[in-house]
Amino acid sequence: MEPIARPPDDDPREVVNTNFQRAADRLGLDNEMRLLLTMPFREVRVEIPVRMDGGALRVFVGYRVQHSGVRGPSKGGIRYHPSTDLNEVRALASAMTWKTALVNIPFGGAKGGIAVDPAELTLAELQRLTRGYIRRIHLLLGPYRDIPAPDVNTNAQVMTWIFDEYSAQHGYTPACVTGKPVELGGSEGREAATGRGVFYVTQALLKDLGMALTGARVAVQGFGNLGSFAARFFAEAGAKIIAVSDVSGGVLSERGLDVKALLEHARENRTVKGFPGGQEISNDNLLCLDCDILIPAALQCVITKKNANRVRARVIAEGANLPTTSEADETLAARGIHVLPDILTNAGGVTVSYFEWAQNLQQIFWDEDRVNAEMQKILLRAYRQVADRAAQEKISFRSAAYTIAVDRVARAE
Ligand code: NAD
Repeated sequence: MEPIARPPDDDPREVVNTNFQRAADRLGLDNEMRLLLTMPFREVRVEIPVRMDGGALRVFVGYRVQHSGVRGPSKGGIRYHPSTDLNEVRALASAMTWKTALVNIPFGGAKGGIAVDPAELTLAELQRLTRGYIRRIHLLLGPYRDIPAPDVNTNAQVMTWIFDEYSAQHGYTPACVTGKPVELGGSEGREAATGRGVFYVTQALLKDLGMALTGARVAVQGFGNLGSFAARFFAEAGAKIIAVSDVSGGVLSERGLDVKALLEHARENRTVKGFPGGQEISNDNLLCLDCDILIPAALQCVITKKNANRVRARVIAEGANLPTTSEADETLAARGIHVLPDILTNAGGVTVSYFEWAQNLQQIFWDEDRVNAEMQKILLRAYRQVADRAAQEKISFRSAAYTIAVDRVARAE
């Protein structure tokens, strides 16, 4: 077994494996079990040649990692990002195994990605890239094998191409991918599910802490699918969204941003930057704002040893996967900051993906109220288990969450 070195501060795989090893220590797992639970089941790297609109040929690199299939088919999103590499995809696949186990839905973990900046591609190029990727990995996918979903820079349109390409090879198979448009077998409520889940879990913690939601000051890093829906739900519940950002920069208003107007601005300009209802703020400064709730909703490893001492939020609700490095986590705990761990907080997305998959297999359709209510039930059950275990064993929510999840997968294995 590999020695467990202190993690470099920006390696997502070290972050997830450190969390795993700490849970394995608490559970007294032996080295063989640790090996089985850390090594990915299967990983592929593919080269995807794409004829660009201008006639030139470009070759992109894509990955799919199936970390575990012991509790059910592997499940996990597909990310399009220039810095995506095998290490990142492995880390995110492993996080999916612990997340699906924690909320106790019948899946293992997977993740996929292509190293590409989709903003540089036309829609037609993006479609050719997605179809080429699926043609290379479709034999490894399927409703009972591995089911992709959206992640950073992918959406219902990309899921539609995946559905169509997979079905061209295997026959009509809506359950092969989730996050599809409702018109093509997607689930009501899926698009908003991850942001809604962040809201439900945070609301539960605030209640336990006796903290008011009305008037709570919220900062959100990342205004994509997750961040924008989360901001909307918090604002609707009476919280004050004081800052949001995206890859281009951020906006701040101590009086509270008008989220509806901000969504409109982001739709028109493809960024929140320049929103007239606030002043400019950098991503780094947003993370260190004096606020009640900080929601990282962009990329991994953004709260690190460099800024953990300067974070002034009372609660961090991890929307993004693996946003906090292990060393930063210790600093936050020592400073008494409440951290709602990613594998709990952002599990609303995969939970509603589970509902989508189940609806597709049965060819029945739930209404949105049912989807939201069932998702809330699953997330609040997991929240209660985590909160109770943390209190009983005097450990952090993250430690409790990983202990519950790792225990479930180890028993299954
Ligand atoms: P998205 O592509 O819709 O949005 C990502 C947002 O992050 C965009 O606003 C983008 O501009 C911003 N961003 C990217 N790089 C940034 C940087 N360096 N600094 C600041 N902002 C940056 O993606 P999403 O689906 O909302 O996913 C966001 C996070 O949530 C990811 O960590 C993802 O893994 C996680 N997540 C997503 C889902 C889901 O269902 N979509 C589910 C669980 C977890």
